[in-house]
Amino acid sequence: MAYPTPVAVPSLQSAAPSDWDALICIAENFRQLPDAALTDFVSQQQWIDQRIGRETVTSICPAAPGQRLILAPTGPLLRDFDDVRCIADVAKIAIQQAKAAGAVRPLLWLQTPADPRYSEALAVAYLAAAQALWQPLEGREARGELQVEPVLAIGLIGLPADEANFLAATEAGRRLARDLCGTEPERMAPLRFADYCVDAFAGTDVKVKVETNTEQLLVDYPLLMAVARSSLAVPRHRPAVIRLEYNPSGPVSKTLLFAGKGLVYDTGGADLKINGGMAGMSRDKGGAAAVAGFMKTVAMLKPAGLKVVAEIGAVRNSIGSDAFVADEIITSHAGVRVRIGNTDAEGRLVLADLMSHLRQQAKDAVNPALFSIATLTGHAARAVGPYTALVENGAARKNGVSAQIAQAGDIWGDPSELSSSRREDFAFIKARSCADDVLSCNNAPSSVTARGHQFPMAFLVVAAGLDQSSALENSLPYVHIDIAGSGVDGGDWQHGKPSAAPVTSLAATYLR
Ligand SMILES: [Zn+2]
Repeated sequence: MAYPTPVAVPSLQSAAPSDWDALICIAENFRQLPDAALTDFVSQQQWIDQRIGRETVTSICPAAPGQRLILAPTGPLLRDFDDVRCIADVAKIAIQQAKAAGAVRPLLWLQTPADPRYSEALAVAYLAAAQALWQPLEGREARGELQVEPVLAIGLIGLPADEANFLAATEAGRRLARDLCGTEPERMAPLRFADYCVDAFAGTDVKVKVETNTEQLLVDYPLLMAVARSSLAVPRHRPAVIRLEYNPSGPVSKTLLFAGKGLVYDTGGADLKINGGMAGMSRDKGGAAAVAGFMKTVAMLKPAGLKVVAEIGAVRNSIGSDAFVADEIITSHAGVRVRIGNTDAEGRLVLADLMSHLRQQAKDAVNPALFSIATLTGHAARAVGPYTALVENGAARKNGVSAQIAQAGDIWGDPSELSSSRREDFAFIKARSCADDVLSCNNAPSSVTARGHQFPMAFLVVAAGLDQSSALENSLPYVHIDIAGSGVDGGDWQHGKPSAAPVTSLAATYLR
């Protein structure tokens, strides 16, 4: 798995010209470039090409490595509403120009504004460039990786040397997340999804266990298996639960537990997605992909004191004569009788059983915190747009878990918005009779349901048994992370690049 290697370069003057073949300059203006000859060159060029300073322009410049100079103006950066994505956006344009010009080892220089919002701007520029350079796995497999991803390294002028390692690990995780999320449903059918994870963690300190035995899965993950039921007739579509575990070499001071929704394809099931709503549903595994991606970053950084456990449910929500239907009552792994409200609300069923296992593991864990990551609701995208939505329980709020992730996300260009879990959410999913204990969903699209991304968190709490006494006693902090708005660039679920949210903000929060 190749991604452009981030290389810390102390200064432009220290960079060996033969090592690099382009120079990207990102700045609000170009009055002070890192070299006097460059500054002179640009001030003369501006007379000839008035686009310079207004849009990203590639010039032939003898003073630049490879004679390629890419000038990428950011526009204003210090207005109230500006954030580090102003820099990420132009870094994406600039790196694409560098690639189009034939550069494979560009240098990147950034004039960092003196404002705390931009404290990680150079790192963010690298991550944005890597995001722009990533190409889909199918394309790499068909045409060859070097053909579609020719850029090998990005030199980051002024990056502290010890930062390059963190950036490489973060980008490796994001790359794995994009590969797993962005791939068509047969290439990343459950078992192939599991195989891709096994390969990604081979030889690392992250242990991988894959459960594919359907008898065993029926016992351990009954809700997940209800979703998978109509996929069982097709062997290659059968489900897999992937367990990932990282143990530090020394004592553990904190434990993170992740559940990832991996719907490799979501037809909606018997509540079929209609009117064109199905296209793009191969990306309904973005939560699982992000969990695996974060684990990849963990595997590379090997943090001390931190234990990380993840469970991923790779499942296909198919439609067929054995499909589960609304009204069925299925007892979850936690022993909660779940009334199915709508079969297209399948992600929360998969997550609830995964979380129930993690809840059991949390009992003996040191300082645990639990997370579910999912492309769960259209409502999240409606409510918060391109941001990740965080919905946390009381214990997490008390510890400031979501606030920390959101703060890190703001600085690292992977932003979130905080939503609150409220009593109305629990009232919404309450059993209507003694026939069942909880209702999975109403029967309208989440996007037109009030509190459509908050109430599923209440369901997860109940169905996973987080409100049962043992979980309450150790007051397990829990944050539900809905990436339905942030999971792909531009919100285009069929064609947009997976964003790998929230891998960066989690890495910035827990791995630095
Ligand atoms: Zn669905």
